[in-house]
Amino acid sequence: MNGTNHNILEVRHLKKYFPITRGIFSKVVNSVKAVDDISFNVKEGETLGLVGESGCGKTTAGRVILRLDRPTAGNVYFEGQDVFELRGEELMRFRKNAQIVFQDPYSSLNPRLSIGSIIAEGIGAHRIARGIKKKEAVAELLEKVGLSAGHYHRYPHEFSGGQRQRVAIARALSLNPRLVICDEPVSALDVSIQAQILNLLAKLKKDLNLSYLFITHNLSVVEHVSDRIATMYLGEIAELADTAEFYSNPLHPYTISLLSANMLPDPKYKKKAIILTGDVPSPINPPAGCRFHTRCPVAGEICRIEWPELEEKREGHLVRCHLVDRFDPKPPVKFDVVKEI
Ligand code: SF4
Repeated sequence: MNGTNHNILEVRHLKKYFPITRGIFSKVVNSVKAVDDISFNVKEGETLGLVGESGCGKTTAGRVILRLDRPTAGNVYFEGQDVFELRGEELMRFRKNAQIVFQDPYSSLNPRLSIGSIIAEGIGAHRIARGIKKKEAVAELLEKVGLSAGHYHRYPHEFSGGQRQRVAIARALSLNPRLVICDEPVSALDVSIQAQILNLLAKLKKDLNLSYLFITHNLSVVEHVSDRIATMYLGEIAELADTAEFYSNPLHPYTISLLSANMLPDPKYKKKAIILTGDVPSPINPPAGCRFHTRCPVAGEICRIEWPELEEKREGHLVRCHLVDRFDPKPPVKFDVVKEI
């Protein structure tokens, strides 16, 4: 990791509930608890991977952090400033400093604009450069992301998926951001192209001292780009640790099941892995006690009754699990130990 121990982003007790309304008076009858009290930091120059199944709240968290959605409760601090309190010039500065790269580059790029115009849009709006200087800045960005200045007048449909994602990255970088939220940036791409885009993101992070919040459902994608990784389940953080610790000593049964699904191509290990069954419960009425208990292979009585706190079990390694001290979790290849409980 480049950079310092200085936090560029601090998320504190963030909640995002989507109300469910009924009747002609739109009476609120319940809510979808998409993000339910999450806290974490991203240090300057760091990549924090945020991983979980579809519907766990990770994308909503990214959108609320960037003020694309309003929070229900909690705070987000960017460089120490409360993001939800920003107005006028300060809000403009935050919008410039914190950018996002979406999953589907095709739908996130305006098909009627040339890629040069798409990248130049923000540069003009934030008055970073004008006229010929603006064109030069776009040409430089195109080269930085592995395209060429000659692509300026081409349109999104003329590019492959990987090239379009390079354009989306160039657009995000056009405002010289400090933080980039990458929301499933390679999930829509062929496996062979994914590595190229991941390498590009890693290189840009180093060259430009960027910080990333890297949102994905795929643990094999985050391993090489992340300094720390957090797993999310039903709106909560289940586990958070340094990447090396996370992969060598996962402690939460949910993390271990995700690793089992991602990391074990060898069939003899697959037999010993935890393969999750059943769907994620509804975030409208999450299960009482531990939210993972309906799918957890080692759940005990306490798990159905008491809600577990996120606690530091090893240095810098946070886990939300009542029973983590009572079994001996190992990397997924040896996880048959847990099956005996
Ligand atoms: Fe499983 Fe219980 Fe731990 Fe939840 S608290 S992850 S149900 S063992």
